[in-house]
Amino acid sequence: MSTSNQKERTRFAPSPTGMPHIGSIWIALLQWLHVKSTRGELIVRIEDTDRNRFVPESEKAIFEALNWYGITHDEGPDIGGAFGPYRQSERLAIYKPYIEELKEKGTLYPCFCTAERLQEMREGQQRDKKPTGYDRYCRSLPLAEAKKKMNTEPYVLRLKMPTEGESTFADKIRGEISFSNALIDDQVLVKSDGWPTYHLAVVIDDHLMEITTVIRGEEWISSTPKHLALYKAFDWQPPVFAHVPLILGTDRSKLSKRHGDLSALSFRDRGFLPEAMINFLALLGWHPKGEKEMLTRQQISEEFRLEDVHAAGAIFNEEKLRWMNGQYIKALPPQRFIQLALPFVLQSMVAKGNREMVLPVSGKKISNGLLEKSLLAVQNRLQQLDETGAAITTYLEPKDDYAGELLIAKKSTAVNTIETLKMLEEYMQTIAESDYTEEMLEKILRQFITDKKLGVGETLWPLRVALSGEAVSPSPFSLASVVGKQETINRITLASQKLSSQHE
Ligand code: GLU
Repeated sequence: MSTSNQKERTRFAPSPTGMPHIGSIWIALLQWLHVKSTRGELIVRIEDTDRNRFVPESEKAIFEALNWYGITHDEGPDIGGAFGPYRQSERLAIYKPYIEELKEKGTLYPCFCTAERLQEMREGQQRDKKPTGYDRYCRSLPLAEAKKKMNTEPYVLRLKMPTEGESTFADKIRGEISFSNALIDDQVLVKSDGWPTYHLAVVIDDHLMEITTVIRGEEWISSTPKHLALYKAFDWQPPVFAHVPLILGTDRSKLSKRHGDLSALSFRDRGFLPEAMINFLALLGWHPKGEKEMLTRQQISEEFRLEDVHAAGAIFNEEKLRWMNGQYIKALPPQRFIQLALPFVLQSMVAKGNREMVLPVSGKKISNGLLEKSLLAVQNRLQQLDETGAAITTYLEPKDDYAGELLIAKKSTAVNTIETLKMLEEYMQTIAESDYTEEMLEKILRQFITDKKLGVGETLWPLRVALSGEAVSPSPFSLASVVGKQETINRITLASQKLSSQHE
């Protein structure tokens, strides 16, 4: 239990069983916020005792994700520390004497049940609609018989869970939680190859690493009584437990593959910004006092209190994340935005087979000026950086193979459209090059429409199509400001010729 003069220590304890999941990063963030808000320390410990589920690349991806999300730690296998080693597979010798201690105390008993027997037992329990769990068959074996069998048969060591009384603990998020001991399974603590299971290693390590607060997912609540039984057997003070809720999709079911790609690094690859991710994730199960939703990491860590995390499921709303990310993209300094967006543009060109980085239709090299202007024109409209490539295509090279009819606005005619395009062609000549900015063009052209008593749609539609060649595109003001005066006029000329040639 933490006392006031003891430094808070918590740990992120991922099992390297695959690519890190966003839910795992969310828990790491809560742990990080907790140590920031208490000036404590965050330890990373790799829980790799389950060799069947071990994935070698996983650990690297875990650190890559922590690093990208900016979740820093004070001790871990990568940076060392006074309580290492920080991989459970490297701590086997450390566990040995503790296993002996438990054996001597009679907290463990050998179990010789075969996989077949356990399977049959489970099927029987399911058939009788009873809770599944070990039936304690080997618990009552006479000591002498058990000792003899241990020399000849494979066995695991199970926890001799008390069968009477209650296990109670004060969860920092949920308040008091109680379990009737009789309902708790005699968990396997040491496997037949001598390796400890998670349940034993976690207790020994949390104790030896002087962890004061264990923050973990709610799926571990029912394991806590087993861990408490071990603390009691060792006569150790248990840490404080805080079980955070599950993350749910907007349909309120547990977040899963069905809800999209949830690997922590996929958010990076789709062009989310780490600041947006942190802001969004922090708000999943916790709310700041005020109404403000856009908060920096610093602001969040100043206000965060672990006990304020909600116990109810946290809803992961990707639409909201996209919106928030859009706000962060918009707020980026222009040069920083360009720097972050460019790799996504290159990636989308390469994906389309355009390794030379040329304009697909004309084959002309993309000029840096045009590229930069196009990027800045779309900065405010993006929600993910991986949308950049598609968003700037029209700016870089509008389509010129569109049908002339596309230029005709609803309720207008070819004759009127040709007339309008001619007027625009002439008028755009009179606008100074320096006024070719989105805001100025919008102001000037709207004034022109009013002065000439033209229809808004009847004027801006053909202008926009002339500049983009598409039915749906950015505004004509934005397009004209990026391509500049000469190109704007060229495109209007082309449009009016296209329509005239069809309607002569
Ligand atoms: N290794 C466990 C996991 O990956 C950690 C459980 C705990 O924090 O105690 O979920």
